[in-house]
Amino acid sequence: MAHRMSMNDFAVLSTGRKMPLVGLGTWKSEPGQVKQAVIWALQSGYRHIDCAPIYGNEPEIGEAFQEMMGPEKGIRREDVFVTSKLWNTKHHPDDVEPCSPKNLSYIVVVLNLNEFNSAVECKREQRNSSVASIKPTVLQVESHPYLAQVELLAHCRDRSLVMTAYSPLGSPDRAWKHPEEPVLLEEPAIAALAKKYNKTPAQIIIRWQTQRGVVTIPKSITESRIKENIQVFDFTLEPEEMNQVTAVHRGWRYIVPTITVDGKSVPRDAAHPHYPFNDPY
Ligand code: NAP
Repeated sequence: MAHRMSMNDFAVLSTGRKMPLVGLGTWKSEPGQVKQAVIWALQSGYRHIDCAPIYGNEPEIGEAFQEMMGPEKGIRREDVFVTSKLWNTKHHPDDVEPCSPKNLSYIVVVLNLNEFNSAVECKREQRNSSVASIKPTVLQVESHPYLAQVELLAHCRDRSLVMTAYSPLGSPDRAWKHPEEPVLLEEPAIAALAKKYNKTPAQIIIRWQTQRGVVTIPKSITESRIKENIQVFDFTLEPEEMNQVTAVHRGWRYIVPTITVDGKSVPRDAAHPHYPFNDPY
């Protein structure tokens, strides 16, 4: 049976628009797999899909939308929140339209600025005018218990920005995963809470984010996990349990673009004057 959404399942943007707190991530979801994943997600109650042309799979995601949405298909297009993103070389207004999935009346365009992403909500008809003049409403950054982003979240709240957490499960299917890196889904403090609530570690992590008002976009192409990841609205972590999850923070960033210099792997953008990853913001 499809999960029923309640009002608590949304973050409210400064525009008044509601953004579902759990969305489906689609980076690394290959063509041939992603259409079915999006269909399972929509059938399971997801109303938020996180996309990008750079992921190379938006045409198939569009096929899933066409199959699932529209008159007599049960899901209205305007009920589904779709995020897409412009790569760093695609910020000119002329590049925006070709980058956006077709047949979408609303879209959120994320401008990737030196990996420090700010998002603007815009309507299709406004898109070709001046996206830069639209006040940002969402900040999409890496966040999970090992990178809790406490200061950044406070900073966002002060500015009426909603934070979206990418790689919320630690992105275990990344090509550059290091064998010695900490494994978020095996964190003992989270496993203990999973046992207490008869939930999985992924559900505890997603619940922690949603309970502090952070949007999460876990990626999966597995039907059971897609369903599992949105079943986080039937339990509540105690305040001290919220603090326990936040306390496992270790400033660990899984998504750091690297290049090889003199045989060594180093952060790609570290010499940039606005490199953001050394600051808490
Ligand atoms: P993630 O969501 O943290 O992790 C995805 C991995 O976790 C996949 O291997 C998935 O496996 C597995 N998984 C999913 N649910 C699970 C569960 N319940 N239990 C155990 N394992 C589970 O990683 P991510 O893809 O890096 O991040 C999520 C999304 O954020 C991306 O897909 C993308 O949409 C967005 N993102 C944005 C940026 C940006 O620069 N703005 C950067 C990174 C990511 P299966 O698929 O095999 O089920």
